[in-house]
Amino acid sequence: MTAPKTFSIRTFGCQMNEHDSERLAGLLVADGLVPATNDQEADVVVLNTCTIRENADLKLYSALGHLKALKEQRPDMQIAVGGCMAQKDRGAIQQRASWVDVVFGTHNLASAPALLRRARREGPLTEVLDAPDPQANLDMAPALYAVRESAYAAWITIQTGCDNTCSYCIVPSVRGREISRPMTDLIEEATMLASSGVVELTVLGQNVNSYGRDITRRGPLFAELLRALGEVAGIERIRFTSPHPKDLRPETIAAMAETPTVCPQLHLPLQHGSNRVLAAMRRGYTLERYLERLALAREAIPDLAVTTDLIVGFPGETDAEFDELLAAVSVAQFDSAYTFIFSAREGTRAALMTDQFIADDVIKDRFERLKQVLDRSALLKHEARVGRLEEVLVEGPSRRNAAMLSGRTRQGKLVHFACQDDVRVGTLVSLRVNHGAPYHLLGEIEDIVRAPRHKVRIPLRSS
Ligand code: SF4
Repeated sequence: MTAPKTFSIRTFGCQMNEHDSERLAGLLVADGLVPATNDQEADVVVLNTCTIRENADLKLYSALGHLKALKEQRPDMQIAVGGCMAQKDRGAIQQRASWVDVVFGTHNLASAPALLRRARREGPLTEVLDAPDPQANLDMAPALYAVRESAYAAWITIQTGCDNTCSYCIVPSVRGREISRPMTDLIEEATMLASSGVVELTVLGQNVNSYGRDITRRGPLFAELLRALGEVAGIERIRFTSPHPKDLRPETIAAMAETPTVCPQLHLPLQHGSNRVLAAMRRGYTLERYLERLALAREAIPDLAVTTDLIVGFPGETDAEFDELLAAVSVAQFDSAYTFIFSAREGTRAALMTDQFIADDVIKDRFERLKQVLDRSALLKHEARVGRLEEVLVEGPSRRNAAMLSGRTRQGKLVHFACQDDVRVGTLVSLRVNHGAPYHLLGEIEDIVRAPRHKVRIPLRSS
């Protein structure tokens, strides 16, 4: 009997891509393949690509260069490229890297196993669809077959695409218009996940607040969805990312406040603090409007942690506009932020604005100054938690110290703590915080709130 073929998937980019990779893994397993321990041994290597940042191309072609050498040693190996870069660049990938066997896009992930089989018979091929098949909703269905990384926490994609037109963003042209999954499918998936031991759900979408807008004008469906997910027995924590500030409605805030399993955590991407820059970014809100929504959320949801995304060096950003960004960040008092230096993506409106040159050293200086303000705010927030009892879901060995464990509080804060014999991955513990740093907390377990419903031993990392 011949051994089954093995596969490995390398993922670039966001959580939606991570979850797409889990779904792809499920499809490959259903097609008879088994996971390989690494690329060196895999019969099939899939690169699930991202195109948000400028260096995405570099990362893809450097990974492909490495795989070319492997393929020269093992000509039977298959290499596939999927995801956003494949959707955007299609035919160009096999022109630049002729050793790639299959290129598939974001709309036909479900076809990847069949394309790999076809390529074995017919040779290299590229198949990228311009839009998902709305009948079959092919890019969504595999969610039920996903091979998930974690036994206790799961992502659930509620929509793909984006109807917004942010001037710096390539996503709408790559991922297409918003398509929402029916609420009944989502509840079914959440129920299935809960019955398999999952206690934490992270709801994913490019703009979760507009969930369901393509299904019905009767809104707001996202608030309804949160409440419905809150009814699923066994799910203890619900998080979501990302809501667009212009679409954050009072009904969503009320659903967060009134659904006990929805975590007090809000990722609300501000992007900039200058109204001139926000307008040039086509974000659809002013700073004042953003802060007003934020204040409503903080008022309604006690102990709300707020995180954000910020872009430095948008074309034409002046010193005064950057100061407005710093001032906005000081007022908003974020718990943490993902900060990015603007990179022009071909095909976006902002790429046409790049003649408004800002020198690299100016951008780097601004970036550092912004980071300092954010770190101060994060440190203050974390120091204020010292002495408090937090509910923490144990995730596994700590990356900071192999003798410790780490997990997340309900606010999504990373916390490291000493290991205990009776604590396994997926256990909910009650933990006393004894130290706050800008990017993490330290603490000690005081009690076990709930043992996991599955039997995963913590694989302690060797030091
Ligand atoms: S909301 Fe704006 S930044 Fe987010 S995916 Fe849509 S276009 Fe891109």
